Amino acid sequence: MSKRIYLDNAATTQVSGEVLNEMLPYFTSIYGNSNSLHSFGREADNGVDTARERVAKAINASSSEIYFTSGGTEANNWALRGIAYANQKRGKHIITTQIEHHSILETCKELEQEGFEVSYLPVDETGLVSITELLHEIRPDTILVSIMAVNNEVGTIQHLKAIGEIMKDYKAFFHTDAVQAMSVLDIDVDEMHIDLMSISSHKLHGPKGVGALYVRKGTPIKKFMYGGEQERNKRGGTTNVPGIVGFGKAVENTKRDLNIVNKKLNALSNYFIKKIEYEIPNIKINGNLNQKAPGIVNVSFKYVEGESVLIKLDLNGIAVSTGSACASGSLQKSHVLKAMGLKYEDINGAIRFSFGVDITNDDIDFVVRKLTQIVEELRAMSPLNKKIKK
Ligand SMILES: *Cc1c(COP(=O)(O)O)cnc(C)c1O
Repeated sequence: MSKRIYLDNAATTQVSGEVLNEMLPYFTSIYGNSNSLHSFGREADNGVDTARERVAKAINASSSEIYFTSGGTEANNWALRGIAYANQKRGKHIITTQIEHHSILETCKELEQEGFEVSYLPVDETGLVSITELLHEIRPDTILVSIMAVNNEVGTIQHLKAIGEIMKDYKAFFHTDAVQAMSVLDIDVDEMHIDLMSISSHKLHGPKGVGALYVRKGTPIKKFMYGGEQERNKRGGTTNVPGIVGFGKAVENTKRDLNIVNKKLNALSNYFIKKIEYEIPNIKINGNLNQKAPGIVNVSFKYVEGESVLIKLDLNGIAVSTGSACASGSLQKSHVLKAMGLKYEDINGAIRFSFGVDITNDDIDFVVRKLTQIVEELRAMSPLNKKIKK
């Protein structure tokens, strides 16, 4: 096969060379257990400290507010359960949205089984949560509001600062899943009044299986993992030193390169959108074009199955995704596009393209050429094709 083109950076990213170099010594020479008291341990612990400082600095937090986890899923599970269990005497009501990642939605379902009450805020057709709805749902017994910063399927960026501004006046804690947001936004947890925030390394050119939960000082949260004193006795388990070191470097680099990368991704996305709109009829660009992660473009190709397009693109070395990576193994259609009120045919034919800076305009030309052929072929075979107006 010739060149492969990876357009699935919202599912995961390649570890950057700089990040890998930072990690390598921690696999070989600096292999101590960061909790050991001898010099081997202290050396490893220094690497973890540096990473903690880097993550804290990037979001304007202090090091003691950063807890390393195995990734975004664990951070989300912990934020919800940890706050729910530690604050249930004050109330058992939680607010979230209909477009969250499954690690939020499934945890909420479980908490409902355990007697908590969860309100799922609707979104408009672009994926934005209404502030009015939030104000309508929030009550004296609300203990937590969890609203994602950037959606992983359509890229819509929520009005985080405005939501934080509201949360200031309530007793409920404010959590945000910022896994997709770290590479898009400059997040200041103080300015945005965020109490808890989930981050993941592998969406930022860091290694997989590592992430963090930011917990504002003084926030009552139940410990997550029992067994050790690690992470200030909140999350037991031998520390993933190389992973954390790589994560710290990845966060620092992301922050350093934010503007340049965003500019480049924006240009690529806009070029792609312009081209497909010109070349392929009966498509719809989903999400909010004014408020969107620059690297994510979600497109509905009417009268075709998204999965069929994905498979045919894959045969041509082009990697994309339908809906979220987690849901793509099942036949379940995107809960995000459904919440946005899209018609069945638009949900069915939706594909997420998520760009990286290694892509060129020539690559995009190639992708659009293949896409045009594939969609045309599939539509010609489809019984739904009759609906297409000539
Ligand atoms: C990928 C993702 C997660 C899960 O993070 P992992 O580190 O893969 O567990 C959570 N939320 C969002 C929005 C994501 O995109």
